[in-house]
Amino acid sequence: MVPLVWSAVLLAATVAMLAVRSHLGEGHVALVFLLVVLGGSAAGGRALGLGLAAASFLLFDWFFLSPHGTLVVANPLDWLVLVAYLLTSIVAAQLLYRAQEQARVAQERAEEINRLAALGAETLNVGRAEDALTAIAAVIRESTGAAHCQIYLPRDAAAPLRLGARADDPAAAPPMLPRRAPDELMEWVVGHGTAVLERRDGTTRLGSARPGEPERLLLATGQAVALALPLQVQGRTVGVLRLERDEGIRLDAERWRLLDAISYYAALGVERVRLSAEAEHAEALREADRLKDALIASVSHDLRTPLTTIRALAHDLSEHGDVRTEIIEQEAERLNRLVADLLDLSRLTAGALAVRAEPNAVDDLLGALVQQVEPSLGARPLRVSLPTGSPVTIGRFDFVHTLRILTNLVVNAAKYAPGESPIEIIASEEDGAIVVRVADRGPGIPPAEAERIFEPFYRPPGAPPDVGGAGLGLSIARQLAEVQGGTLTYSPRAGGGSVFTLRLPAAPRDPSGEPPPGTSPRHLHA
Ligand code: ADP
Repeated sequence: MVPLVWSAVLLAATVAMLAVRSHLGEGHVALVFLLVVLGGSAAGGRALGLGLAAASFLLFDWFFLSPHGTLVVANPLDWLVLVAYLLTSIVAAQLLYRAQEQARVAQERAEEINRLAALGAETLNVGRAEDALTAIAAVIRESTGAAHCQIYLPRDAAAPLRLGARADDPAAAPPMLPRRAPDELMEWVVGHGTAVLERRDGTTRLGSARPGEPERLLLATGQAVALALPLQVQGRTVGVLRLERDEGIRLDAERWRLLDAISYYAALGVERVRLSAEAEHAEALREADRLKDALIASVSHDLRTPLTTIRALAHDLSEHGDVRTEIIEQEAERLNRLVADLLDLSRLTAGALAVRAEPNAVDDLLGALVQQVEPSLGARPLRVSLPTGSPVTIGRFDFVHTLRILTNLVVNAAKYAPGESPIEIIASEEDGAIVVRVADRGPGIPPAEAERIFEPFYRPPGAPPDVGGAGLGLSIARQLAEVQGGTLTYSPRAGGGSVFTLRLPAAPRDPSGEPPPGTSPRHLHA
């Protein structure tokens, strides 16, 4: 349409000038034609400008240079006019085209900047990570001219591959899903970090992470109806961006550049969704943990009173000669220990257990331990070895809590080590710490379980069920050690069995070698 209009303008100008030809010089004609060429270039682009220049060149020669009505130029100076006119009109058309092109590129850049600014603002403004991703999908769809844009999140521990966000052109037909099952194709893109193009005929073409030349050609010419791009952050594929357009996706070099830049936003958006989901999950776990602790604390507290009543009543009844009451008493006692453990555990978890760390002699500690555990060991030998020579080894610890830790370790050794095998307790002083090891010749702990046995309620698969216990003892023991600034660890024993090592801070020694005041070293009678 525009070329026709400007051809008509050229003809009209020629006819008008022909009417007054006798009054016109060559300069007048050249100027009028030049105006027409510039007007045509501005309205219809470079090709029209050059076409008008060529046509006006011929018209100039034919109608306005003598002899008129021929292409012959009689006066050699007229050649100069003609060639100068042709060159001027071509250069003018070309310059105008260039200026227009620059204006167009500047306009596109401004739009790009606007889009990126909008993208930044959208992603910062929106509170929820999913909404930010939807905003990013909308900007990508608009800036690529696609009808549909979908962002997939890869499968993780919590969920399978899923659609994280989408943006659709309301005027376009509903999205046609990929010809292959979407999950399969998107999984493939995630797994291989490779772009996939879907052609109009339903076939697919696989590229690299960023489509290479052949794929770009398909996209530049609009032969691909869908494009799935891996979204990557530091070389890791975190999601898939899928663009779709029934009439073919058209991406020229400029749009590619833009897509490249904004798809990184999409990748960051996907990461944000993942991180916020993880944070929510962690918060839910923490909440569940708080509830569990509160439940343990209140249940164990409420169980104590009825248990005491049951034990007292069973005791009364046993005086009437009913032997079954003995079992009731034993079981109630077992439950009572469990409840006491639960209460301690909840106090330890809440940091509410009183700890009195003060100088104590290790000899005293082991003496009390032997007294406490011997009755339950029967014929099983208990070998205790203390650091030889004076002075007495003094540690800084809570006597009652530490005795409880060691009792637990010895009772465990008796529970899990076979028959008459001896239990050894070895105390020493090492690098500013007092160390007490409890060693047995039991089955030991498989390496994979060595840390887990210290978790509350954890009993390794295959732990003997008939020895009682709820898997709380070691967990309480370790926490009791830690609240005193110590550690409790397990290691396998050479030749078979277990060694549990308790480390507690040693008390600072007086330079005279005397124990600090307040301690009264006694010696073992075991
Ligand atoms: P419980 O004895 O009530 O099961 P603990 O927390 O004391 O709970 O111990 C956790 C688990 O560690 C036990 O179930 C047992 O399998 C293992 N264990 C503890 N001490 C020993 C030991 N001396 N030898 C072998 N296994 C042990």
